[in-house]
Amino acid sequence: MCDIIWCKKEINGKKCNTVNYLDPYCFWNWEGKVNCAECKTVYYIHMIQGFMYRGPKEVNEKPDTSPLYADKPLEGYRNYLPGIEGRTRPYQCLPRDIYLGVADMVKFSARGRPVRGWRPQPPSAGIAGSFGFEWDIQKLTPEVWEEYQQKLAKGEVSEW
Ligand SMILES: [Zn+2]
Repeated sequence: MCDIIWCKKEINGKKCNTVNYLDPYCFWNWEGKVNCAECKTVYYIHMIQGFMYRGPKEVNEKPDTSPLYADKPLEGYRNYLPGIEGRTRPYQCLPRDIYLGVADMVKFSARGRPVRGWRPQPPSAGIAGSFGFEWDIQKLTPEVWEEYQQKLAKGEVSEW
């Protein structure tokens, strides 16, 4: 859970109404100045154990840091994502670029035996079909069957 600064600064007769999210890891025990992502008003805050002890109080100084994320719930949640210079802080915990959200397709188990997860499965398998008791690898995926024969010949298949 994180605290927020709902910025009510009036600019040109209109309230800023931006919600700045103070993500808990960075602000849990923290004293300093943080900017509003929209109007860049700087607020002093002092948080102790995630509780807003003092502030937010508007100050006319440079911010120490920025919120991680901000949005405007009164305007259809228009938002500022992490990493916008001068507005939000970069998010350092993004997954490494090798994690693209695509599953690795595995043909063989650690013991060298064919697994069923290999695709594509023929349309006759139906939706999410798996050929429960009649997985005919030789017919369904002849290229995997061929590779399996080579593995057998090379002694790369084991019981344990
Ligand atoms: Zn603001």
